[in-house]
Amino acid sequence: MGNIRFEALKTAFGHNPVAVEVPEGKVKDYFARDVFTRERMKEYIAQEVLDQLLDDVDNGRTIHRDIAGSVAIGIRKWAIERGATHFTHWFQPLTGGTAEKHDAFFTLDKSGALLEEFSGDSLYQQEPDASSFPSGGIRNTFEARGYSAWDPSSPVFLIGDTLCIPTVFVAYTGEALDYKTPLIRSTAALCHAAREVCGYFDKQVKHVHANLGWEQEYFLVDEALYNARPDLMLTGRTLMGHNSAKSQQLEDHYFGAIPARVLAFMRELEYEALKAGIPVKTRHNEVAPNQFEMAPIFEDVNLANDHNLLVMSIMERVAEKHHFRVLLHEKPYAGVNGSGKHCNWSLQTNTGVNLLAPGKNPYQNLQFITFLVNVLMAVQRHNGLLKASIVSATNEHRLGANEAPPAIISVFLGKQISEVLDKLEHAKAEEAIIINAKKEMKLGVANIPEILLDNTDRNRTSPFAFTGNRFEFRAVGSSANCGAAMLALNAAVAEQLMLFREEVDKRIENGEAKERVLFDVIKKYIVACKTIRFDGNGYSEEWKAEAAKRGLDCETSVPLVIDRYIAPESIKMFQYTNVLSEAELQSRSEVKWETYVKKLQIESRVMGDLVVNHVLPAAKRYQTMLLQNVLAVKQVFSADETASLNEMDYSIIRQIEHHSGAILEGVEAMTEARHKANRQPDERSKAIAYHDTVLPLMADIREHADALELIVDDEMWTLPKYRELLFVH
Ligand code: ADP
Ligand code: MG
Repeated sequence: MGNIRFEALKTAFGHNPVAVEVPEGKVKDYFARDVFTRERMKEYIAQEVLDQLLDDVDNGRTIHRDIAGSVAIGIRKWAIERGATHFTHWFQPLTGGTAEKHDAFFTLDKSGALLEEFSGDSLYQQEPDASSFPSGGIRNTFEARGYSAWDPSSPVFLIGDTLCIPTVFVAYTGEALDYKTPLIRSTAALCHAAREVCGYFDKQVKHVHANLGWEQEYFLVDEALYNARPDLMLTGRTLMGHNSAKSQQLEDHYFGAIPARVLAFMRELEYEALKAGIPVKTRHNEVAPNQFEMAPIFEDVNLANDHNLLVMSIMERVAEKHHFRVLLHEKPYAGVNGSGKHCNWSLQTNTGVNLLAPGKNPYQNLQFITFLVNVLMAVQRHNGLLKASIVSATNEHRLGANEAPPAIISVFLGKQISEVLDKLEHAKAEEAIIINAKKEMKLGVANIPEILLDNTDRNRTSPFAFTGNRFEFRAVGSSANCGAAMLALNAAVAEQLMLFREEVDKRIENGEAKERVLFDVIKKYIVACKTIRFDGNGYSEEWKAEAAKRGLDCETSVPLVIDRYIAPESIKMFQYTNVLSEAELQSRSEVKWETYVKKLQIESRVMGDLVVNHVLPAAKRYQTMLLQNVLAVKQVFSADETASLNEMDYSIIRQIEHHSGAILEGVEAMTEARHKANRQPDERSKAIAYHDTVLPLMADIREHADALELIVDDEMWTLPKYRELLFVH
């Protein structure tokens, strides 16, 4: 057999664009074709039942089992008409991604007759085998067996011949074993708290909801090359590989023409996403070669998160058909931009007002400032927790690297908003508020200018930026479930709004005028939240020093950042908002540590295999060739001549010897460190040991392997190189 790398390259170059059949005509002809939308419900569910269902859904009430029975009949009829044979409860375990348990709609009874299986009960509740999902020691704390239960606020949909039912996954004793449950709880807490605060400004507001617009970044790599890289296959990232001579210096990939093969993939991906009711809109190249982005129009946070998870699995499926693999890992290639998932987040009232957009009059502007400042307070008070909500073994490589969000959470506001806050801070109540007969008030600060709405003043180094009418949480990882970050943000802001209201109400009860109190408290907050505001360069060394001085969380070790979940202020906040109990927080951090350990353990093993089975044999083969050459040269030339002739060969031979020796020593030390880490008594200590001892040794080994890649004859190198992984499409 020849060199597997060349075999793979030959196959990759033979891959042509795959023909895609997307129907002609308008998107609206197939948008949400595979979703049991409210429109469709009208056809399949009796009016009375439907009214009850929607009323319960819209008001966040539990659906009655009797209703579920009637709804199930409607769903089944629709699904079977569309060719479905199976159904699955679709849920979001703490390991990330989604999980499914498929069942057929029909079974046969003893006589061989068909029995219909999909009842109200199977819509309502299922019992997947919970033992195979992590519960983070929950077994000791509470009942680990769990069930999945229908989340009627997210519509059921079809994937191929399977009906997918979005569900929560909870323990029998009620504790959440997934991301969806606390996300729903956090949204409820936030929306309630926000509505109460809106009451100061507009009594018409009956409901507030939280929006999420995600931007999913990803890499594509040819399937043949992927299959020739065991590290990509097993860990999702390259554990070694020297930088390509041409990388992203020119940034010519950004907004450049999309290659034909990729375009075919994207067309099909968009078509599949649109059919699933995901309103995808933008497609473009990203900064790095072979890196792309997909973003839909924002939706309600729970639905948007379901859609993001769904898109990730659709991507994988469509990519395979196009002989690509999609890399959702945050850092598949060292030295090349990583992938994130910007989470655009905002609050909107049932009256159509975006609470994070400047308003049309001073009153609305004060409402906007109120929400803005409360978000700042929440992010400041829980900056460590917010960081914990986005860290993972995979996102660790992206954070704090010089082309991604820094490992310190701060908020970018931009010049205009900063000026407004500065003015307000120094305004005297007397000059700032004039209450006229209609109780309208005028702020000392001028109306916030309209141009703010298309704010182009972007600071890409900020992990949490205000972008005109929303906040953009940019530190979230590309492979993450956005729910983890969103539920922490929702809960933190909910708590903050509740505290704000308590304070304001108390003073109003004591007879102070509402406007004056609002003004006073906001002013106080503006001063208090100054430490989280930072518009400068988040990558700079000065900022690290400054942030530490300000008392912001500067921890960079993932296992230690995870501690923030169980810090007293986090526990208090999650309890106060009813989003997560202490036991649930304990179990979540356990799962995070456990996952961290597993990922690093696999990486370290794969790294050992790669250097021993690929790198060293290639290096030795080349070294032997050089040694034979030296001997041959000696036989042919005189001693005088060979001295200078062999100099270069000698040097390379020595370098190979040096790097190979260092790799062997490194692998031995890494294996030893791993064994020691595995012997630690608990998951947290294991994670810390992996972080502190195994990870640095892996970096050392990589350095030597990459050095060998530069020296060894290209024809002998068996692992596809960066230039091939990044530029073949
Ligand atoms: P950029 O890359 O410049 O940040 P994109 O257009 O790629 O912008 O993505 C912006 C994302 O923000 C989209 O998902 C969009 O729907 C979302 N978005 C826009 N306005 C809001 C809003 N008010 N609340 C939440 N998300 C929003
Ligand atoms: Mg963005």
